[in-house]
Amino acid sequence: MGKIITSIDQDLLAEIEGSAKGKATDEDLDHHKAQRLWIDGHVDLPYFMKKYYPEVAIKDLQEGPVTLEKAVSTGVRLFVSAIYCQDEFNGQASQLHFEENLAFTLNHYKGLHIIRHRQELEELRNDTQSVATLFLLENADFLADDLSRAEELRSEGFFAIGLTHRNTNRLADGDAADIAQGLSKEGKELLSIMMDHGLALDISHLHPKCFWQVLDSYEGPIFCSHTGLSEKYEIPRNITLAQCKELFDRQGVVGISFNPELLGPECKGEAEEIFAHLDTVVQRFGPRHVAIGSDLGGFGPRSDGPFCGLEGFEALARIMLDHGYGDSATEKILGLNWLAFFEKVL
Ligand SMILES: [Zn+2]
Repeated sequence: MGKIITSIDQDLLAEIEGSAKGKATDEDLDHHKAQRLWIDGHVDLPYFMKKYYPEVAIKDLQEGPVTLEKAVSTGVRLFVSAIYCQDEFNGQASQLHFEENLAFTLNHYKGLHIIRHRQELEELRNDTQSVATLFLLENADFLADDLSRAEELRSEGFFAIGLTHRNTNRLADGDAADIAQGLSKEGKELLSIMMDHGLALDISHLHPKCFWQVLDSYEGPIFCSHTGLSEKYEIPRNITLAQCKELFDRQGVVGISFNPELLGPECKGEAEEIFAHLDTVVQRFGPRHVAIGSDLGGFGPRSDGPFCGLEGFEALARIMLDHGYGDSATEKILGLNWLAFFEKVL
């Protein structure tokens, strides 16, 4: 029996295809490059630099998945840098660990613009040679010691906070928690401070129990910076289409990761495998809320294949166009959806 096409399917189809014209050519890909502002919603660049190139400033960094040169040449001129706090430092050592990571990043990012206000997004869009970043706090355990510290984060370039990494911390449970306790008192207080100060909530790594709790109490901007889809690869780290729907109902965005560990058991992180996750969301909800949060730098340097860095965006663009996605859907997914989200949050 053939597929029954409903009116919703047709609307979605129109949104996905737009004026698509089949196979992508190099000219198609170059077409918008001059004005391109593609956006990566999650890179682990500070972690990567600290681990592999602690002596090199970002403006001199020539190797690795994300460099300023690659950002300009691929058009991925805005990326969210995770200030990632490792679970092993949770507790007493967490504050020092965070402040060290932030100081390292500020020191090594000299010369890279850190966006704090909405109008800077417009300036970035118009200056096609410039590159900029936003900060995201990944694992906020240290804030349990001093919740008022959260109020300063916004002025330091942070637009969002993810409560946990993989383990349970003093705020909430991560995706690797065997038994979830749910949000702690401090976790709930932090959410209220975040709402008051316009900090967005990143639900990546959050245990489902906390995810559903958060939806009941948190009314600020909410999104998922980097994930795979459970419907494609069922592991606790990935989120479901039902969770996507909740985020989209709240105008949130979901960033699909390039990290092979999230994409499939035998996965190499190739463009088709990333596309499969992305397309699962697009087929259900259209292209308006899904984007890229590569996690580049967070899963080790790769030397093989096209997915060793930001150039993966170009491979993905080609695959989307080959699968019949139109220019408009492709540009939304590779940048404009994040841009609209940031414009609302900043
Ligand atoms: Zn992560």
